[in-house]
Amino acid sequence: ASFTHQFDTPVYKGSASIDTRLFIDGKFVDPVEGGSIEVVNPTNGKIITSVAAGTSKDVDIAVQAARKAYKTSWGLRVPGKARGQILNKIADLIEKHGDELAALECLNTGKIYTFTHFRDIPIAVETFRYYAGWADKIHGQTIETDENKLAYTRHEPYGVVAQIVPWNFPLVCLAAKVAPALATGNVIVFKPSEVTPLTALKFASFLNEAGVPPGVVNVINGYGHTVGQAFSSHPQIEKLAFTGSTLTGRKILEASARTNLKDVTLELGGKSPNIIFDDCDLEQAVKWSTMGIFFNMGQVCIAGSRIFVQEGVYERFVGAFQAAAKGFGQAAGDPFAPQSQHGPQVSKSHFERIMSYIDSGKQEGATVLAGGQQHGDTGYYIEPTLFTDVTPEMKIAREEIFGPVAVIIKFKDEAEVIEMANDTSYGLACGVFTENTSRALRVIHALEAGSAFVNCYSTIEVSVPFGGHKQSGIGKESGEAALATYTQVKAVHVNI
Ligand code: NAD
Repeated sequence: ASFTHQFDTPVYKGSASIDTRLFIDGKFVDPVEGGSIEVVNPTNGKIITSVAAGTSKDVDIAVQAARKAYKTSWGLRVPGKARGQILNKIADLIEKHGDELAALECLNTGKIYTFTHFRDIPIAVETFRYYAGWADKIHGQTIETDENKLAYTRHEPYGVVAQIVPWNFPLVCLAAKVAPALATGNVIVFKPSEVTPLTALKFASFLNEAGVPPGVVNVINGYGHTVGQAFSSHPQIEKLAFTGSTLTGRKILEASARTNLKDVTLELGGKSPNIIFDDCDLEQAVKWSTMGIFFNMGQVCIAGSRIFVQEGVYERFVGAFQAAAKGFGQAAGDPFAPQSQHGPQVSKSHFERIMSYIDSGKQEGATVLAGGQQHGDTGYYIEPTLFTDVTPEMKIAREEIFGPVAVIIKFKDEAEVIEMANDTSYGLACGVFTENTSRALRVIHALEAGSAFVNCYSTIEVSVPFGGHKQSGIGKESGEAALATYTQVKAVHVNI
């Protein structure tokens, strides 16, 4: 079972092929019960191919293969340096096949090829190289408790780690999860989103060549209620790392609580405030805020979707932002066209969900200053949309839309905006635009969020920790923090 696609586009000419089965114990295999998932091209709604869908039976086979690999060919028995070399080889292979990976990613998600090729692929490569460097630098402490006693700590892998990712940055999310888990000596069962299964299968095809022993990384495509549910309730999975919606995160935590109390890391949704003060550099504020909400068709967890603008700069900001939003809309088109900046939403159901939020904003009395409807009549394109006259109680100001929909709310002073910005159950990110450094830090320190941006927005660095406060998550990814996410500390007491 394989899929080959011939790309003849202005930005990429060539073919891309994958094995569409499950990748378990170092081999592509058919699922035990033979299910499949249709993969759709969001620019036109047509079926691209279908891939195998696993069930709990395949999950169990993969977990047993992973356990065997952990005991025989991975874990701390493989020196950190050797694990690091393998991670570097994975990075080399992602880099070598970068064009093909970017093309598959865009075909499946509708993401813009140039952004994917020049941003997502390099981030994935850098992530593997970054954690390759950490693999031989994972140290414990020695603690001398008294004259005759010594204690030391070991940072041990969990063993079998399950990882579940969403569809908005399939390959970047894969790298952020797989690289630190491997660097720290864990073995992995991995589930891509059922909406975007293609690039994880391409990635799986590199693993043997990179020298990853069979069973160490297993890729099991499937639905959340089957494969995802089997991960979260499997008694031999010791750790689960999830990125996706808050609703699903809650189900995973419940399943863990009901079964083996596996450790759970959750990277969830957001409704992040982006605050524009009177004394900002207006041009910069408009530029970053536009990308902050419209990049990747608004399908970004940290999107600055609630834009608070101070009275004195309100008219000018709204005018410039409206023009920028319309400009973004004019750059909507085929993800493989070099001039395109805005593609379709990932799926029909997601398109419909966003359109229903747009309708709700109109019904609740907000004013549409840009967009507000489907773009064209083919595929799942939505015009970059701007709502003003929004009040904090409106649904569009409270719920995560995860689409190209910005809401602007006017404010008077610092105290008022901090209050409004924190009035949400989410706490993923926040942004502040001001030329007054003291104010920037004062406000950022008062905002309840895991990532904060000052005079920029959505800059993500592989070396910096990432993770939400409040109901946006539990635990951290990225940077050195991910080493703690994928290890458990053993304290050893020695009587000398
Ligand atoms: P989702 O929660 O519907 O699905 C995410 C993944 O969970 C998919 O692989 C899905 O198959 C799986 N899943 C669904 N039900 C499950 C269950 N019962 N048990 C186990 N797994 C299950 O989210 P989505 O629609 O794919 O992605 C959008 C959401 O992801 C948004 O809320 C967004 O904010 C969030 N997100 C967060 C981050 C972050 O780092 N914080 C990054 C990207 C996306």
